[in-house]
Amino acid sequence: MDDKEENKSLETYLDNWRDKPPYPTEANFVPGEGSLEAKIVFIGEAPGRNEDLQKRPFVGAAGKLLNEMLESIGLQRENVYITNIVKYRPPNNRDPLPEEIEANAPLLKRELEIIQPKLIVILGRHAMNNFFPNLKISQSHGQAKRLGEQVYYILYHPAAALYQGSLKEILMKEFKRIPQILEKINELSKNEENNKPSNSSLDENNQAGGENDQIRQGELF
Ligand code: URA
Repeated sequence: MDDKEENKSLETYLDNWRDKPPYPTEANFVPGEGSLEAKIVFIGEAPGRNEDLQKRPFVGAAGKLLNEMLESIGLQRENVYITNIVKYRPPNNRDPLPEEIEANAPLLKRELEIIQPKLIVILGRHAMNNFFPNLKISQSHGQAKRLGEQVYYILYHPAAALYQGSLKEILMKEFKRIPQILEKINELSKNEENNKPSNSSLDENNQAGGENDQIRQGELF
């Protein structure tokens, strides 16, 4: 599929969700936004009040902090893709329910299939547990992990950092490592290309240990 067709297919897909939420809700549909060619996708939890009103992700206080952090590494929102595991504001800002996360999962899957990012930056524990159900954010923030071919980088949620000053410092510091992680991913893919003996994948190489295995363990960062 060329870019235009992919664009169209995501838009058609999104229109369906706008018209038919997967469960009864009064909330507005808040799809992801940004570049479909983005190398980095940021995944948060669910829209808040401001996001519901504007029908755009991360446009409130947490979004302001996210914008500032993006600028700190020379990026704008337009260069990346920003989305949430749940696309409708949960009532009274409660945590998303497992069934809401599950009902929204096909859309997140579609977004990631179309964009095929080099790096997924996970913002907060809800998004983290969506991909890594057994991890604790207090132990896993600042780590890069691999699942299959995909690299994930786990960070505290910007909203949590706004409530707790000590987390903000950690988040800002770990956010600044994103370019370094991307560089490492590029390097590893290049090495893999050069060293490929047959059809072995990055993941198969991983099993033998070595540098790629370190990324899986989060040891490099
Ligand atoms: N928090 C989130 O997780 N997502 C948003 O879009 C806004 C705040």
